[in-house]
Amino acid sequence: MSGQASYTYLTADDWDARIRDADRLAAPCRLCPRRCGVSRFAEERGFCNAPGELVVSSVFPHHGEEPPISGSGGSGTVFFTYCTLQCIFCQNFQLSHHAEGVRITPADLAGKMLGLQSQGCHNINLVTATHFLPWLLRAVRDASASGLSVPIVYNCSGYELPETLALLAGIVDIYLPDMKYGDDAAASRYSAAGDYLTVNRAAIREMFRQVGPLRMGDDGIAQRGLCIRHLVLPGGGAGSAGILDYLKSTFDPQDLHISLMAQYRPLFRAAECPEINRTVTFDEYDSVRRCFIDRGFNGFYQEFEELDASFVIDFSKRKTERLQGGE
Ligand code: SF4
Repeated sequence: MSGQASYTYLTADDWDARIRDADRLAAPCRLCPRRCGVSRFAEERGFCNAPGELVVSSVFPHHGEEPPISGSGGSGTVFFTYCTLQCIFCQNFQLSHHAEGVRITPADLAGKMLGLQSQGCHNINLVTATHFLPWLLRAVRDASASGLSVPIVYNCSGYELPETLALLAGIVDIYLPDMKYGDDAAASRYSAAGDYLTVNRAAIREMFRQVGPLRMGDDGIAQRGLCIRHLVLPGGGAGSAGILDYLKSTFDPQDLHISLMAQYRPLFRAAECPEINRTVTFDEYDSVRRCFIDRGFNGFYQEFEELDASFVIDFSKRKTERLQGGE
């Protein structure tokens, strides 16, 4: 069985303080590094275009995440609409750019989290939620008061501010952030985030400070810790080796779990950048995988599949294998 999550130990006063601080960060909005300064409680929209209430695209037990996250019961996944990063190749552009989703209240979301737990999900997996933090915290507080006890997984782009992450300390047990780029020029070109490296690396250090290495229970299910995701781009466009070199120079590789992803497809506006307007070749992916192995990290990698550009992503078919660092 999964363990008791950290947030279950927060008092009512703790929750009040976190929600008060999150409200402060939302008006004027500084929830993410864009620091738009709009008032989210006055229905003003910033770079992410998110409104002042929760918008959710889907809620379901996800069986295609990394093995310790999905386990046998699935990861109770909540996909939030909108995104602070807005990558031109977004693999979920229907949510991030086209705003697919429905508005729900924190009480509704709390009920959905409890429903996922009662279905046997090992955790609640919040995907791209930072722009909804004030409303999200209310939902987790209400769900916790009604018996939610599985760990929270914070599944995000890695473009996060330390002050926002500080509000999640003792609430999030498992961080599942991206490290998208090892090169600011690429981050600027594909995500309009020329400060991504500095911001992302500080965020990763803060996440690790909060939760440490990924730890599994006797059942093999993740209980707490950090697992970093990296999506390999065509032509080395993500600067993958730079990311791995940074992590090796900053952490003990044996303390880090990295999940390498091969599933890139040239979706949304990828055609505007010819160098990424194709899938990743086997050689490109394998060279990053070798780099990952040579540096001795723990983690997971997806099996490479030759697929054409019209492939529709089905995460339930995602193949992930455990890899011991140094193999
Ligand atoms: S969460 Fe949205 S509105 Fe707030 S700073 Fe970030 S992009 Fe701007």
